[in-house]
Amino acid sequence: MRIGIVGLGLIGGSMAIDLKALGHRVLGVSRRGETCELAIARGIVDAASPDFGVLAEAELVVLCTPLGAIASTLEKLLPHLDRSAILTDVGSTKVSVVETVVPRWPNFVGGHPMAGTAESGLEAAFAGLFVDRPYVLTPLEETPQRAIAVVEEMARSLQSRVYFCSPTHHDQAVAWISHLPVMVSASLIAACMQEFDPKVLELAQQLASSGFRDTSRVGGGNPELGVMMAQFNRGALGRSLRVYRQQLDQLIEQIDQEDWSELEHRLSLTQQARPKFVE
Ligand code: NAP
Repeated sequence: MRIGIVGLGLIGGSMAIDLKALGHRVLGVSRRGETCELAIARGIVDAASPDFGVLAEAELVVLCTPLGAIASTLEKLLPHLDRSAILTDVGSTKVSVVETVVPRWPNFVGGHPMAGTAESGLEAAFAGLFVDRPYVLTPLEETPQRAIAVVEEMARSLQSRVYFCSPTHHDQAVAWISHLPVMVSASLIAACMQEFDPKVLELAQQLASSGFRDTSRVGGGNPELGVMMAQFNRGALGRSLRVYRQQLDQLIEQIDQEDWSELEHRLSLTQQARPKFVE
């Protein structure tokens, strides 16, 4: 198959590596000429250019730019696409992407491979990134069956575990397990930094160990990604944050009231629930 990748970064580059290894003809578009040259030199793509004309022969195109660039990318891409071309994306939120793309190109299947590292850019791309990771597809009722089948086959060929759901359910689910944790973890770090006694703060920083490392990790990441989650998943993230705030209020109440049996009951329930999310 002739597959176009737009945005040769961590996700787009890793996808190009695997798809080329599977025998597809891979055509890349990226914003900077240097990135395209590097992708060609490393054999990651068969051809690449900042010019979208390189995608004229593509049967399937995967949008792998940051979420904020999807709308402008689409404008530049569509005039070059073959009328039968299938389009998909890898964006971490789905409602806004689907609402942007589908009216312009109905032959589109929203997608989200749930794989990544803390790194970004083509230099960070590697083979096998998607192996055994969830890959969520969010077709609509009116999405052409052939487009769904082609994108599903592509995701399965990367050895991902494919899940189907609506764009709304996707965004609500990732708000719980991905976007809320970033905000909670960031708030934890910010709260610690509010310690008014500098000696206590310094001691806490010296004593911080594995528990703090685990709970603060996602809050100490790239601020741009956090802002993008909030911007593109505002409704679902706001809903999750408000439920989380209620939980915190109940905890404060139980501790203030010295209601240890209720607190133990609450912590028993969370102890039982955690394995349903992660083993
Ligand atoms: P990335 O490593 O920064 O790669 C994005 C690439 O897109 C950049 O290398 C850049 O290429 C190009 N680009 C940047 N701004 C652009 C613009 N305004 N117009 C056109 N191209 C532009 O990012 P990524 O982590 O691969 O993320 C890409 C997409 O994957 C995002 O939509 C994100 O939501 C999704 N995603 C990310 C992860 C993750 O953990 N990172 C996981 C799942 C899904 P040049 O070098 O040419 O400038």
